[in-house]
Amino acid sequence: MDTELSATIADNIRTVASRIAAARPSDGWQMPALVAVSKRQPDDRIEAALAAGHRLFGENRVQEAQARWTERRASHYDLRLHLIGPLQTNKAADAVALFDVIEVVDRPRLARILAQEMIRQDRHLPCYVQVNTGEEPQKSGVMPGEADDFITFCREDCGLDIAGLMCIPPADEEPAMHFALLRTIAGRNALAGLSMGMSGDYEEAVGFGATSVRVGSAIFGARDA
Ligand SMILES: *Cc1c(COP(=O)(O)O)cnc(C)c1O
Repeated sequence: MDTELSATIADNIRTVASRIAAARPSDGWQMPALVAVSKRQPDDRIEAALAAGHRLFGENRVQEAQARWTERRASHYDLRLHLIGPLQTNKAADAVALFDVIEVVDRPRLARILAQEMIRQDRHLPCYVQVNTGEEPQKSGVMPGEADDFITFCREDCGLDIAGLMCIPPADEEPAMHFALLRTIAGRNALAGLSMGMSGDYEEAVGFGATSVRVGSAIFGARDA
């Protein structure tokens, strides 16, 4: 293993973790989880993060995640994988088999199929509802005005374990109002989990109460195109 690369990535993880700790609304605040986003990163960087003891990773594509993690799962029993990218219903079975948390539940048909798969596989995974806080047409996520009804549908009609909400603010806007909106929707639905904040804005997200941040390039460096 490239020891310089290993040291750099271990260092990046420590730096991000300490910035997260410092950004919490108060010292007693629970430490948010650091989901290291490993999509499109070369193997040596993944190995470096594992060697540094990191075990929580996020991926946005099911097939790519299978290729990267299926074998590594066998040697790292404590690995935890979050799906953070759009999920097609025909990949739902594979997603339920591989991931530990599904962060991208955003439409009734997907919610139903995930629920059926979880029963079939006897794997009852915590889920997040993705909210399209910026109401961007190209982005997935339920619209803010439909979130309450959809959360109720996921819980009561599908029996999904909804642990929280997830959002990806528009790239060209201040993220603060999006983080605040997500927190408001979570609060009125009695949801504790808030997955928000990426490399450019995770500290701000933590300040708004994020319980989980998704950080890729600040840990691993720039991704392959
Ligand atoms: C790629 C990705 C991230 C990580 O982005 P960085 O800017 O590299 O930290 C976080 N969340 C989602 C949903 C992503 O697709």
